[in-house]
Amino acid sequence: MQAIRVHQHGGPDVLYYDEAPMPTPGVDEVVIQVEFVGVNYIDVYHRTGLYPGILPLTPGVEAAGVVTQLGENVTEVREGERVAYVGPQGAYAQYAVVPARQLVSVPEGLDLQQAAAAMLQGMTAHYLVHGTYPVQSGDYVLVHAAAGGTGQLIVQMAKQRGATVFGTTSTEEKAALVRAAGADDVILYTQTDFATEVKRLTNNRGVHVVYDSVGKTTFDKSLDCLRPRGTLALFGQSSGPVPPFDPAILNAKGSLYLTRPSLFHYIAERSEMLERANAVLQSVLDGTLKLRIDHTFPLAEAAEAHRLLEGRATTGKLLLAP
Ligand code: NDP
Repeated sequence: MQAIRVHQHGGPDVLYYDEAPMPTPGVDEVVIQVEFVGVNYIDVYHRTGLYPGILPLTPGVEAAGVVTQLGENVTEVREGERVAYVGPQGAYAQYAVVPARQLVSVPEGLDLQQAAAAMLQGMTAHYLVHGTYPVQSGDYVLVHAAAGGTGQLIVQMAKQRGATVFGTTSTEEKAALVRAAGADDVILYTQTDFATEVKRLTNNRGVHVVYDSVGKTTFDKSLDCLRPRGTLALFGQSSGPVPPFDPAILNAKGSLYLTRPSLFHYIAERSEMLERANAVLQSVLDGTLKLRIDHTFPLAEAAEAHRLLEGRATTGKLLLAP
């Protein structure tokens, strides 16, 4: 089969379109024929070595496809079933081996492209808005990179829970998408001081929660946007990792809460994963959650997808089609 492989860490050019051995399922595993792969920032971190791995590696932790082979003991899915997952590395390929417990059945009527696009960013938005800081009606919420894949979904879910939502982004074109997702106000954080703007929009009271996927360039000011006892959910680092931090700052700025959550801890139990995945897939199917698929590339063009993602040139989801 064909697969993307990384033989040494580096820039997008290290993503080689290679001939690779067909995977075989172990106990409790299945092989799926991959139809669509979700491209995520974590794939960039696996490629560069920021998150270390054993080489050669095939990136990709999110896909949708059809089950072609069952390993021993598998009861969760059957051959021929349409499934989607967030799981182990290896999705940038024509076939992937996945533990059966990480698969969710794709509901009838939902195409595999939408399913692949919804899983990782959808479940992330879901756990952030319902779990990490459960947004309440009347809350004020700030979402950074709100035109991004995860950002647009957080905005929609926070609005559905009755919050007033502010989104940051870098350009007017992206701002239009943030408004379309339902944000009450959009701040161009590359042109305006977003902390000052949030203070103005909240009569100096600050927001209840900041969902921050940008990291290095937004972290300090995100703390300044919070009201006393507010929560900073730092869930990503698209501008780079946040340097070491003195917890006394949380006291000085108002008994704040800081958390650095990861999706994998919010879907570790199969029951919790199914609850989040089914909620997300169902709301895509019934139209209450709008996905924006930015572009679908052939698998061989994975490097181009990485260039766009890192180049800040995407609005919504990037997919690969093996
Ligand atoms: P996005 O679609 O949000 O793309 C990244 C966006 O970040 C860009 O489009 C850009 O938006 C903004 N950005 C700000 N500064 C920079 C910069 N210096 N370089 C590049 N981009 C910048 O990506 P995702 O939604 O896929 O992921 C965002 C982050 O969230 C990643 O760090 C990812 O690893 C993390 N993440 C974490 C999860 C978790 O569970 N912890 C799960 C999912 C994602 P703009 O132009 O508007 O500023």
